[in-house]
Amino acid sequence: MDINYFLLLKSKYTIILDNLNSIISECDDICNHINENDSLQNTKLCILFNSDVNRNFFIEKRRHIYDLKVICDQRIYSLCKHNFITESIDIDPDTSKTITFCDFCGFTQRL
Ligand SMILES: [Zn+2]
Repeated sequence: MDINYFLLLKSKYTIILDNLNSIISECDDICNHINENDSLQNTKLCILFNSDVNRNFFIEKRRHIYDLKVICDQRIYSLCKHNFITESIDIDPDTSKTITFCDFCGFTQRL
């Protein structure tokens, strides 16, 4: 399989994971809102949105997508003819760090 296919998949999985994180955060907000308002806890609103069930659904999907992304990373690493370059990056105005990474796939080497 072509490495570009896995790079595209990795990019899409990253976007999906970002969106799932946002959805889970929204579920948490709804859950917190319900918990902070005793009057809502036994109303139809809680029944319409079962925050725990919905949250767990998305957490399960996030775990699945994360596993797929890990497989993509492994395929990319094995298929890429790495071209490692070393650069100094600024962490803050007084501190910099040297990193070595592949300029094609982005894999970083630990020194
Ligand atoms: Zn590479």
